[in-house]
Amino acid sequence: MAPGAQVRLFNSMGRRVADFAPLAEGRVRIYSCGPTVYSDPHLGNMRPYVLSDTIRRLLEWKGYSVTQVVNITDVGHVMGDRDEGEDKVEFAARKEQRLVKDITRGYAEAFFGFMADLNVLPAAHYPYASDYVPQMIKFAGRLEELGYTYQLPSGLYFDTARSGDYGKLALMPPSGQLEEGRVSLEGKRSAADFAVWRADPPDQQRIMRWESPWGWGVPGWHLECSVMSIDLLGEHFDIHTGGVDHREIHHVNEIAQSQAYLNDGQPWVPLWMHNEFLLLSGAKLSKSSGRMPTLRDLAETGYPPMAFRYFLLTAQYGRQLDLSNQSLAAATSALRRLLLRITPLRPLPVIRRYDEAWNTLGEPGRRALEALDEAWSNDLNTPQALAELQGILRSAELTDSDKAILAAAANQVLGLRLDSLDPDEITERSGQLTVPAELVEELVAARSAAREAGNWAEADRLRDQLTGLGVQVTDTPDGPRWTGTGAAGAGA
Ligand code: AMP
Ligand code: ZN
Repeated sequence: MAPGAQVRLFNSMGRRVADFAPLAEGRVRIYSCGPTVYSDPHLGNMRPYVLSDTIRRLLEWKGYSVTQVVNITDVGHVMGDRDEGEDKVEFAARKEQRLVKDITRGYAEAFFGFMADLNVLPAAHYPYASDYVPQMIKFAGRLEELGYTYQLPSGLYFDTARSGDYGKLALMPPSGQLEEGRVSLEGKRSAADFAVWRADPPDQQRIMRWESPWGWGVPGWHLECSVMSIDLLGEHFDIHTGGVDHREIHHVNEIAQSQAYLNDGQPWVPLWMHNEFLLLSGAKLSKSSGRMPTLRDLAETGYPPMAFRYFLLTAQYGRQLDLSNQSLAAATSALRRLLLRITPLRPLPVIRRYDEAWNTLGEPGRRALEALDEAWSNDLNTPQALAELQGILRSAELTDSDKAILAAAANQVLGLRLDSLDPDEITERSGQLTVPAELVEELVAARSAAREAGNWAEADRLRDQLTGLGVQVTDTPDGPRWTGTGAAGAGA
């Protein structure tokens, strides 16, 4: 039993909070779906890894030994998450006129750089999908042997009707339902069936391709996570994480094929955790709307990475979080206030585990520790933990030594560099976020359409959204014009 408060986590499988217990005593294995390395990870793309890092930090704080795997998708993920369309990485290589390996290497490096900037502890393994293709072919072959697949000219498909509780994670009706975004390909038995192998189309040869029993081609996207996680963590492991968009298709398909492959009647992974989306002043951050702001853009605006990590922790991971100039500035000044209170207590002691803190604290300190521990053990209620920490630092009852121990404990779990960050680096500023002109154009066009349709409430909402991004729109006889975010333009 881990010391301190019982860890309780929300399981997307069944949609409820439950007490956490690992499969093997004292040891936790976590797999997180990693980035597709065809562009710089945007700010939203980093939220899942701050989540998995916080889970890991919490469990290590409780004394578990944690093994983490984050994969790197460098092949197989097609545009729009469908079985059809160009590979995302090949699309980027064509667009940027660079070699595939330069694209994947460059964007993987950007990802690792952002992870380090955000003080995300390194995972034990970062496997690349392209290094696992022979294992994926074997896995697909086993599915075929067991009768879970059927072959079409376009590849080998998983027959979802064979999977007893297909779609349970996504709360799909038992029959499986055609969802928007799933194209019913000629010959597919059900719209939900998905490719485990995609054969080269007759008229097109892919850049990355492998020979398989089902012809030359590439593995289906979902396959890599099943194969790499089982290879590196074992057949069953404790926690699988990802953004909430993965809950609906990608993870559903990972589960179906893994349970078919293991064929042991057990649930593959007991606990599924998903972060909700980060929004940009209410707008969806999507890579298709141009270049979305990255951690590098924030730094250029004057917001250091820890201000962004703090900002992420101000919301519980299961809630949408809206990034705007205002919300970011508020988080930044809160972090600065925290650091101003902590600097006089430095150097902070090294406190890695709950019992280390408990053993060194007096009675009032222990009560404060329990409150802090209760907060983050309660499904990672980080906003509550930050509020507890602020209370601790303001407390008249606690000694400076207690406060230093508690700040060190918070630092261990929240990963905010409270032991070393200089408050003068976290200046309160009103810097404007840089947002891509394409996104602004989309919002301006949507506002114009809403106005034309007489939908004034929607037009006002869009104007507020633009204001949140630091964009001013003026209506002229020639149509709307906008300024702000370091750019200007005319909208349609
Ligand atoms: P990708 O590189 O597109 O495969 O995405 C990497 C991770 O970011 C996945 O876990 C996605 O679910 C997640 N993700 C994508 N957009 C957002 C967003 N706006 N907010 C939070 N997570 C996101
Ligand atoms: Zn995955």
